[in-house]
Amino acid sequence: MSQPTASQGQAPRVRISCPGCGRSDHVTWPATQATYHWKCFNCHKEFDLEKGAGH
Ligand SMILES: [Zn+2]
Repeated sequence: MSQPTASQGQAPRVRISCPGCGRSDHVTWPATQATYHWKCFNCHKEFDLEKGAGH
């Protein structure tokens, strides 16, 4: 089960963390998108996450 799934095409699963509350989640983030609009299920705030941010 270690093979990456290709069924989603250009949309790999990406691990993100909420800028508001720090909650971690996995999202389907299309490779063509530099940002991902995400609504936190925990604190219900919305963010435009940037790929590669957080380092
Ligand atoms: Zn949150």
